[in-house]
Amino acid sequence: MALAERTGVSLRASNSFGVEARAARLIEVEDAGDLAALAERLRDGPAPLVLGGGSNILFTRDPPMPVVRIAVPGRRLLADDAGSVLVEAGAGEPWHDFVQWTLAQELVGLENLSLIPGTVGAGPIQNIGAYGVEMRERFDSLDAVSLRDGTRRRFDAAECGFGYRDSVFRHDEGRGWAIVAVRLRLAREAPLHLDYGEIREELRAQGIARPSAHDVARAVCAIRRRKLPDPNVLGNAGSFFRNPIVDAAVADALAAREPGLPRFPVSPSDAGAAARASAENARPAVKLSAGWLIERCGWKGHREGDAGVHERHALVLVNHGAASGAQIAALAARIAESVRDRFGIVLEPEPTIV
Ligand SMILES: Cc1cc2nc3c(=O)[nH]c(=O)nc-3n(C[C@H](O)[C@H](O)[C@H](O)COP(=O)(O)OP(=O)(O)OC[C@H]3O[C@@H](n4cnc5c(N)ncnc54)[C@H](O)[C@@H]3O)c2cc1C
Repeated sequence: MALAERTGVSLRASNSFGVEARAARLIEVEDAGDLAALAERLRDGPAPLVLGGGSNILFTRDPPMPVVRIAVPGRRLLADDAGSVLVEAGAGEPWHDFVQWTLAQELVGLENLSLIPGTVGAGPIQNIGAYGVEMRERFDSLDAVSLRDGTRRRFDAAECGFGYRDSVFRHDEGRGWAIVAVRLRLAREAPLHLDYGEIREELRAQGIARPSAHDVARAVCAIRRRKLPDPNVLGNAGSFFRNPIVDAAVADALAAREPGLPRFPVSPSDAGAAARASAENARPAVKLSAGWLIERCGWKGHREGDAGVHERHALVLVNHGAASGAQIAALAARIAESVRDRFGIVLEPEPTIV
């Protein structure tokens, strides 16, 4: 039995915003086999909160429910045929360490997703993505245990309902599952994705003409270290808002009065969100830059006490030290309100708000 329960535990070191919140009960699970018994034990109380590395969550209060931290370890090669390689990782594995391990196995596919904080198990929740690649594109299947009734189930990609920073697990029909293992399909050889952000410039600056997956991973890490605040130094959860997906006609009207409005075509992986944005008539949809909208409202570098907006990234909210989660959430609400008032666009938070 690898199940440890503690009471009255501070979560400050367990969330990348570094805000204080106390868990009345914190249960750490290393063996997925223990989850069925745990579900039975928790059945009569409030639905538990599943926690990974805490890098995409904002505690605005002490969580009123038990907190279950999934710490299931392990990573292995499951199949290796015709250049396609199936790998599996326990949900508790740190994501970046897992990416490094796949690179050490000479596997291609996750290099653009290097250095994303958090655990493997949280990856599918918002279909993590960076530098032109999303988890959805490498995904094979996952195993999850229902914390409602202890049943274990395998989900394939279609059942996960991936969209832009979205999956079924963020919606009512998919809640209550603890992901315990994730399987991804990688390759021995595959085209590298170099056309996003500054990857090519970075490789050029390093004098690399024919990059390997290792080189791309190193370039992505260098860019990320330069651009994004380190949560160990400045509390944050990466992008605080999702880029809004709107009807193309809405984007056109906005662009007519806001010169320079960045607009991006919606990729097939965004279909879920795009369909929701375009509603029943399914007109073309467009992705806008939440960071641009926020910056235009004058928030970049803004600070209220210890809650603030990063000076170089209008999309990243930060804790300068002693901000509470409620103060950060209040600032986020004011930012969203100003964007709605000026542009008529509704911003949705990316992190889970508790
Ligand atoms: C500096 C920084 C940069 C970032 N950059 C990126 C980026 O480039 N791309 C990107 O997509 N994200 C990015 N993020 C966000 C974050 O790293 C990811 O969302 C990550 O997947 C969260 O992992 P976690 O283990 O910390 O999840 P947590 O914060 O612990 O949880 C997030 C959500 O997932 C749920 N959850 C966690 N584990 C499980 C599980 N095993 N089973 C079921 N539900 C679970 C939680 O209940 C919660 O709703 C960044 C964050 C930071 C701080």
